[in-house]
Amino acid sequence: MRRFAARAHAKVNLHLGVGDRRADGYHDLVTVFQSLSLSDTVRLDVDDDDRVTSGSIVAGLTVAGLDAASVPTDSSNLAWRAVDKLVDYYRANHALSDAPRVAIHINKGIPTAGGMAGGSADAAAALVAAHAMFSGTCPALPMDTLSEIAAGLGSDVPFTLRGGTMLGTGRGEQLTPMLSRGTYHWALAFFTEGLSTPKVFHQLDFLRSGGSTNVPPSLDTGELARALTTGDPRQLAAAMTNDLQIPALTLRHDIGYVRTAGMNAGALASMVSGSGPTVAFLCSSELHARDVLDDLLADGSAYSGTVAHGPAKGAHLIY
Ligand code: ATP
Repeated sequence: MRRFAARAHAKVNLHLGVGDRRADGYHDLVTVFQSLSLSDTVRLDVDDDDRVTSGSIVAGLTVAGLDAASVPTDSSNLAWRAVDKLVDYYRANHALSDAPRVAIHINKGIPTAGGMAGGSADAAAALVAAHAMFSGTCPALPMDTLSEIAAGLGSDVPFTLRGGTMLGTGRGEQLTPMLSRGTYHWALAFFTEGLSTPKVFHQLDFLRSGGSTNVPPSLDTGELARALTTGDPRQLAAAMTNDLQIPALTLRHDIGYVRTAGMNAGALASMVSGSGPTVAFLCSSELHARDVLDDLLADGSAYSGTVAHGPAKGAHLIY
């Protein structure tokens, strides 16, 4: 049996500006993604003796690690969908007639429904592992083609595929690399209960339609771009913005308590990660991040968490 495994990383949005809701239901975004050291791995166990000529090549999917019980193990899992999408692409464009059956195993380090693109990371890792599995059988695909396939799986999948620090526009899938100096250290506070991304966007629309003036679209990333060129976490702390933070806080008061506790513990800044509920605390060093996390865990403000640093790589093959 052949095995292929790939790793993909979590993201934080250092800037998340949300514009109007579009006709297709998505919102226009202006966002700055940065990948973090926190990661998931996806492994494909390939049975070359069992050939599939139509339909899904995935025989099954198992999940271990953080929040494993809340991750779907059927064809709705983004890693499963990613493998199917790549097979569809090769069938349609390169006359792939048969492919081996695969079993998928995911090991999660990224919280589920935590606003850190965990499912998207799994999709990106599955794409990379499946792409490697087809090497020698089908043509290698350029990053642009893989990114297009990724965009069909979800708005955050192209970024988790490419990693680093990127400006995302459109619904977040149109990416431009950004300069980021140095390494930034974070303490991350996780929550037992996740938050649905669509629900947080709806809450933002609801607040805006009710005339709320404290959630205007933050569409200018200039200050953040300048801060990133300095490599100084204090400047980054002053420049971070997230338009989904207020909607997330109005839906979940526990996020507010954790933010206050982290700032009392000495973090430089706190930021709801994406649509939350994970709270990311920017710190001045790894040691500082460990101290902030220790304080949060010691007084029970956060039930679990970890430290992480960024930027990290895009999805990549491990073996
Ligand atoms: P984002 O930050 O991209 O908005 P998120 O990190 O908040 O996403 P995910 O961890 O991607 O959220 O999970 C969102 C939902 O997607 C889960 O509730 C789950 O039902 C579904 N899902 C599908 N595939 C996966 C996967 N491989 N890992 C986790 N969740 C998955």
